[in-house]
Order: sequence, then C-alpha cells, then structure tokens
Amino acid sequence: MKAIISHDIDHITVTEHLLRDTIVPKYIARIHIELLLGKISTREYILRWSEFFKNKWQNIDELITFNNIKGVPSSFFIAVDKGIGLNYSNEAALVWIEQMKCRSCEIGVHGMSFDNVVDVRSERDAFVKLSGLTNAGMRMHYVKRNDESLKYFSEAGYKYDSTIHAFENPYKIGSMWEFPFQIMDGWVLEGGKRWQSINLEQAKEETKKLIDKAHQHNLSYLGIDFHDRYFSESFRSWLDWYTWLVDHLIENKIEFVNFDSAIKELEKSKITT
Ligand SMILES: [Zn+2]
Repeated sequence: MKAIISHDIDHITVTEHLLRDTIVPKYIARIHIELLLGKISTREYILRWSEFFKNKWQNIDELITFNNIKGVPSSFFIAVDKGIGLNYSNEAALVWIEQMKCRSCEIGVHGMSFDNVVDVRSERDAFVKLSGLTNAGMRMHYVKRNDESLKYFSEAGYKYDSTIHAFENPYKIGSMWEFPFQIMDGWVLEGGKRWQSINLEQAKEETKKLIDKAHQHNLSYLGIDFHDRYFSESFRSWLDWYTWLVDHLIENKIEFVNFDSAIKELEKSKITT
C-alpha cells in the first residue's frame, strides 16, 4: 500500500470572509469553547488571535516545505468558485497556484458544482483558464455529490477525483480515475463534533485503526485529506497529528505518491496484466 496525501485549501485570509459568511464569528466562538474545555492551550489561543490579526489563514508554503523534507509530494485542491465558508478570489487563488507550480506541486480543483454537467464543466474551464493546467483532478468542497456527480466530473474532463469516502481501490468512470479516500483530518480530530473533541493520543489510535482497515481491504492507495489551514502551531494537536502520521507511514515503509504517479502506475499495471 502507498499513501496519497492531499490538501484542500478552504481559506487564504481572514478578510475574505468579512461581511460574506459566518466563518469569523464561528471561529471566535470555537476558540473560546476549546479554551474553556481545556482542548487548546493559552499559547494556541494567543497564536490563533495572532494569525487572525496577521490576516493569514493558510499555511501552504510551510506545508510544502515540511512535505519536501519528508519526501511527500504535495498535492492541493484549490477553488475557483465560492462556496460554504469559502470566499477567496480567483486573484488570491492565482498567487498560490503560481507558487505551487514553482514548487512542483500537483494542483487540482476544490469543486463547488456537482449537480449538473454544465456548471461542472464551466468550473473546470475557469480553472484551466486561470491556471493553464489541463490535466487537473478535483475534490468537492465538503465532499458534496449526488449519484451523477462522478459522471459529470468525468464528462467535464477531470483526470481524477477524490471526493468519495470509502475503503475501495481506485476505479475508472469514463476516462477519469476515482480515488476514494479513507482518512480526513477533521473526521478524526473532531470526533463528529464542531470543535476538537478528542485528544492527540485518541486521534492516533483512531488513525491506526483506519490504516489497519485499509490493509484489510487490500487497498493499493491510502487516501489522506489534510487541510493546510491546520498546519500551524495554533492548531497544535492537528499539526502534531499530521507530522506523526507522516512519520508513522515512513516507519511502516509506506511510500508516498501523488495522484498523477498513481494513475501512471495504474495504467501501466492495466497494460501488463
Ligand atoms: Zn473544502
């Protein structure tokens, strides 16, 4: 089994949310709940305000650097349309697309359209126009989809999708590869609540169970979704969970690949078998 780690970019700045959605008041409520429940330290609380006033709600550069050190290919999903709690502009996205290109990252679309092929296609076209990248894949924001969505993604020309949460091996829909994923940061660390509700040791145990389950299902690729937003000292247990997970996979001799290399491997094995 190999691992494919990818990152959804949901936020870039604090100000992109002002007067557009309820993320900021929710964020302020959340940090107070977590502080009062003893889930975060005073240091994390202070750092969260510090990032707030710096207007910095992404950690893309820091994450790429960490991934490079550990031999993890960085694969991102960035949005070209706005959605629930996601309000950055195409101009802001383009700055990071250029940066990610310079640092040899794989870049896909963090999608918003899923229920008709016209909208799915125009979202992909907007991404191609902005980025110049024609080989991109996608993952839906909040992994939204209906029974037809994968077909629409394939018809729109996406090379891969990783929206499905399932313990299944990659499979093809038309010419698109679907890569089901198994581990999502928030689902592990929030334990079904709106705020961080389990501690790091519990999160590690939960994650080990998911990795075991992936082995039991004979998965060729373990899909992991980690949001760059949490790669920060202000989200200490999220940061510690991710760095632990990468080291844990390295210790267990699990190689890291991105979607593009995995597709090449899958296409090659199809020819030879
Ligand atoms: Zn998202």
